[in-house]
Amino acid sequence: MPTPSPIVPSGVPHQIAELLQTLIRFDTTNPPGNERDCLSYIHRLLTEAGCDAQLVGRSPERPNLIARLQGQGDAPPLLLQGHVDVVPADPREWQHPPFEGRIVDGYVWGRGALDMKGGIAMMLTAFLRAKAEALPLPGDVILALVSDEERGGEYGARYLVESQGRLFQGVHYAIGEFGGFSFPLGNRRFYPIMVPDKQICVLRATVRAHGEHGAFTGKDGAMAQLARVLLQLEKHRMPVHVTPAARRMLLAIASNLPFPQGNPVPATPEPAPGRPDSQAAGQPAQDI
Ligand SMILES: [Zn+2]
Repeated sequence: MPTPSPIVPSGVPHQIAELLQTLIRFDTTNPPGNERDCLSYIHRLLTEAGCDAQLVGRSPERPNLIARLQGQGDAPPLLLQGHVDVVPADPREWQHPPFEGRIVDGYVWGRGALDMKGGIAMMLTAFLRAKAEALPLPGDVILALVSDEERGGEYGARYLVESQGRLFQGVHYAIGEFGGFSFPLGNRRFYPIMVPDKQICVLRATVRAHGEHGAFTGKDGAMAQLARVLLQLEKHRMPVHVTPAARRMLLAIASNLPFPQGNPVPATPEPAPGRPDSQAAGQPAQDI
């Protein structure tokens, strides 16, 4: 039996947890972001390991890192993408300081541990490992670590799409931020794979009423009507839209559970009446 290769070859940070701790210690709270130091650190790790990596951006303070491993040309490039900025954290609300990356009871604590410096530590380690082991890759692997994901992506994804699209030519598949975390159900543990993200559903309401003078007590004005609309929205449960991916996931989970948890009937709720499935979130605004 061949000896399994070490999980962390030389040139790769000693432990993934240590790498994650280091990444958390760069305070990349967005706003303002200040992603430069964090990405420069990653850039140094990559270039010291002999990887082809560059920093590109609209502003030197908010760059994006693109690295590429050459494959054999038998498959389209695979994109690994992540963001290094994090949402704000108020230390008073935290059990452990959010930017120290402490390990407590076997867990790394810190802002970004989940969203998504943990994911970056994994992607980066896999990327460095593929380089260190000269892994024969069917296609190129591109690592794209961006700034400014939490506030619109002006300096990150938008900049890359608008100004650096050639770097991603031919990409068919990407692994990005994940929203599915392992969870126990029955006596099994499930590892969901996130395929889409939540969408927003924009409604535009126009309320019409007679104008009133501020000195008079008008009834049923536009604001009062709008209040009723908001109360109705608050009171009603929105319809359930079961997408094909969600249906497949629920059936797969059900088929791996014993009766009665595995009964697929509760696992496949039908959409509530009133709105067909095709009018799910992500559609343009509609007047009501
Ligand atoms: Zn995120």
